Amino acid sequence: MIKINQKQFTLRFADEKNFLLLHLKATGKTIVLSLPTLELDGIFVELKLLNASEKSVKNPGNGIFEHIILANTGYKSLLLKLYIRVSEKSSIVRFRYELYSNEPIRMTKTNDAESLCYFGVDTSAFHTVNEIRLSEFNEKIHATHLTETNVPASYFENKLSLVGPIMAFSDNQTSVVVAYEHGAQYPNTFLNFGLQPDRKVRVCASKANYATNAIIDSNACFESIWFQIGAVQGDLNDLAAEYRRFMLEAINPYPASRQPYIFYNTWGRQERVKWGGSTYLASMNLDFTLAEIDRAAAMGIEVFVIDTGWYLKTGDWEVNKDFFPDELKQIKAKLDSYGMKLGLWFNPTMAALSSRTLAKNEPSRMTMNGKNIDPLEIWETEASVGLCLVSPYWEVYANRLISLIDQLGVTYFKLDGVQQYGCNDPRHYHGDENVSNNERNELYAFMLPVYFGKIMDKVKSHCPEAIFDFDITEDGRFVGLLFLSQGKFFIMNNGPYYHNFDVCDDWKSPTPDGNPNIFVNPGAARGWYTRTVLDYDKWIPSVLFLTHYFPDAPRSSQELNVASLMLGQNGIWGEILPLPNEDVQFFNEQLAHYKDVRADITAALLTQTGFIGDSHEVYEKINPATGRGIVVVFVNHKGDYQYVTTKTVSDNVVVSTSGVTVKKGAQGTTLIQVQSPEKGAYIVYFN
Ligand SMILES: [Zn+2]
Repeated sequence: MIKINQKQFTLRFADEKNFLLLHLKATGKTIVLSLPTLELDGIFVELKLLNASEKSVKNPGNGIFEHIILANTGYKSLLLKLYIRVSEKSSIVRFRYELYSNEPIRMTKTNDAESLCYFGVDTSAFHTVNEIRLSEFNEKIHATHLTETNVPASYFENKLSLVGPIMAFSDNQTSVVVAYEHGAQYPNTFLNFGLQPDRKVRVCASKANYATNAIIDSNACFESIWFQIGAVQGDLNDLAAEYRRFMLEAINPYPASRQPYIFYNTWGRQERVKWGGSTYLASMNLDFTLAEIDRAAAMGIEVFVIDTGWYLKTGDWEVNKDFFPDELKQIKAKLDSYGMKLGLWFNPTMAALSSRTLAKNEPSRMTMNGKNIDPLEIWETEASVGLCLVSPYWEVYANRLISLIDQLGVTYFKLDGVQQYGCNDPRHYHGDENVSNNERNELYAFMLPVYFGKIMDKVKSHCPEAIFDFDITEDGRFVGLLFLSQGKFFIMNNGPYYHNFDVCDDWKSPTPDGNPNIFVNPGAARGWYTRTVLDYDKWIPSVLFLTHYFPDAPRSSQELNVASLMLGQNGIWGEILPLPNEDVQFFNEQLAHYKDVRADITAALLTQTGFIGDSHEVYEKINPATGRGIVVVFVNHKGDYQYVTTKTVSDNVVVSTSGVTVKKGAQGTTLIQVQSPEKGAYIVYFN
């Protein structure tokens, strides 16, 4: 039997009866995963694990070790190759597997039903079960956010299937997490947790995890996505804290995407220019951008992202020399002089009609039901059509990003406009002509996030500091742990639109061009929407949910915006060039205070008091190990408010907003009092 011994747990790769056994040393509890089951050649098969042997151990980076184990399955010549990633930093493990065979074996679907359960877990020892969803799209805020729901016993009795992708089990002494790394918008699901009356939970394919009659042979293996299993001593809050730390520190060999940099993106300004009666690309030029970089640096911004319009043609992704004659050379030099990073916008699935990339990759063109998709103008650039990333084109695209890293020095990639569905072409990697159009479309949707994982792997192995963000500001995009395992989400533009609400006609679109955004003015209201996604922070660090805040006067609005971004969304956009010097200085000072304690803020769990929009909302982010961090009080109705910190804080207090007093309270606590004559935000730094 193969055993991986870690500081906090041992993991045994088992035998004919079980798949994996995770033994938590602190509580002596063992979590048992049952064996995979699937339909092969029309027969229901439970795989066994025979003659297992460890083939290799690798260290992909960041203290992570990958163990590769091979075993016979007892079915024909089918072999299971298991990849397990462990880190001494965490008691949560990732694993995936591949199935190989020398002789052809068919993965079948009797009556079109997908029959593939990756593994099961026995939860009968745990009375509390929670489902944590990441992809609940809320129409009111026009964004996804986290929901956590207790699963009653009746759900097991009625054999319900839950989407997850995170399930948590607890007896208050030991708490267990099981999760899968994929992405879709709830309730669309490609995998599910099948609940059984005996309280066993099976992690199964819902649809499109494999093509009907897919062959496993010497040319093709079956590859699963990554799964996660882990346990901690304590209750579900302890588990959530450990899971959050795993996502921040231990999941990724290349953790650059977890750094709490301050980001600027030009889109907020491009929109303003457009709303003023011009075009999105009117301000896309060298002089404007150089001036804006000076200003961004003076404010304290660290990553400068040029949004759509920097390129001549989608697909080729070459700099538009009409806008930037020196192909971003002066821009990169200026950013370097300030120690800032360059980011660029991409729609990775688009190629302009006259692009060389489209001509060279014609077989990878996206089609639906045998027809080319109508060309679409991409943000005032040439009309473009789709190229499918679930085809050989994925590697062409990854190589193009690598060459842009080398040529332009870009290290930040904003990926936008990618819908989960859109191709059922039989020439690609998502089903051939032997399966239906509909199945190929679903297979595309299942495999698209998987191929983004491959792109990120390839690019980051060339450039470990590369950061990917994936735009999920609209619905129908894949949201889940696959992308978050390596990158971050661009979660929100400006919150909801007029069309999300049933407003009367004369309250729509105040600008001549029909701008549909409601929350683009200074004041408190925008933050009520943009801060909503901080509910992720219990399980997934908020630094992975980028949102941009506006820098516009008055000062009370600037305080509201800068206080909001410090809680982890970390973005600024809008027009920064017209800001007077004293406003630039305000952002510089606040962000300097933030940078002193941002490592602690990022590590700290969020304690939130008050519902968003209440008379006052308080957000405490104090690292208990250091006492450092921030407390932010948002006041939505004038008055006097008090708050006592839940953690012992550092004696070094910085208060840069007037109207706040901070006093030592009883038993190591600290009392914060706020006198607010109007709506506003009050930041207290403990460093
Ligand atoms: Zn395709």
